[in-house]
Amino acid sequence: MSSRRRGGSSWLQLATTAVLVVAAVVVAVIAVSDLSGGRAQTASKALVAPSRQARSVKKKPVKRAVAHPEFVRNATPQPGWRKYTGPVPILVYHALGPPPPGAPFPLLYVSYGNFKAEMAWLYHNGYQAVTLDEVLSAWYHGGTLPAKPIVITFDNGYPEQVRFAPHVLAKYGWPGVLDEITENHLPPSYIWPVIHRGWEVDSHSLTHPDLVTATPAELWAQVHDSRVYLQKTFHIPVNMFCYPSSEYDTAVIDAVKRAGYTAAVTEGHAYAFRTEPYLLPRFEIEGGVSQLAADLSYYKPAHYGW
Ligand SMILES: [Zn+2]
Repeated sequence: MSSRRRGGSSWLQLATTAVLVVAAVVVAVIAVSDLSGGRAQTASKALVAPSRQARSVKKKPVKRAVAHPEFVRNATPQPGWRKYTGPVPILVYHALGPPPPGAPFPLLYVSYGNFKAEMAWLYHNGYQAVTLDEVLSAWYHGGTLPAKPIVITFDNGYPEQVRFAPHVLAKYGWPGVLDEITENHLPPSYIWPVIHRGWEVDSHSLTHPDLVTATPAELWAQVHDSRVYLQKTFHIPVNMFCYPSSEYDTAVIDAVKRAGYTAAVTEGHAYAFRTEPYLLPRFEIEGGVSQLAADLSYYKPAHYGW
């Protein structure tokens, strides 16, 4: 585009260089402040060292990039975590709190009390919630996980998911994963606070249609445009897609791959394995602690955890 224009190209280069330098400093400072592990410090040194000019850049905007005070512990790998490529349970929650009168699917509502009790049960039984990105990093890139990793996802984007659930999870230092329908669900002002806490936000399509019956153009827009929207709005990777109503076929999976996602989740009732990144099943928990405990035990494959 503009690189083809000769006139004013030096100005353009100067401006581009300045932007890149500022970006490098911001990334480096985020790495230092967000991550407490030794590996993070090494990475940040590598970023800072080559850019001498970066030191002469004003420090004011950089200082604003420090970790948010509500950033939760497990949103970054912790000391004591180990390399692990085994199965991981993923939970899915929909609406939280009491169903409004006449709600079409009252069973999809999990009461505040049940949700708190379920998180407490997980904690007291040694589970630690992490993001799906941390699981993917461990599965495919040598990253680390806690002894009994679990991922807690929230589908569609409801106010209680970002107003109530984060406080419960934060008690244990846990992040959640929000699968957002990007049109007519949560506005950005509702989503920023969970991003500041270190939550992962992924795409659950633009409008939650049945993608199996969608036209190719509609399928692509739902899968691709929702990802681009989240990336541009929040400056996040968006590596995971969540199939609306768990409907998918080979064309849908292919579109998800082409749009750049590295994984996708379903509602199949099982532990997730690294061998099928585009068909990661999740447990839908609607029966309280007893169902949660029974499912995690009954479906538990050999070699879960360390
Ligand atoms: Zn959904």
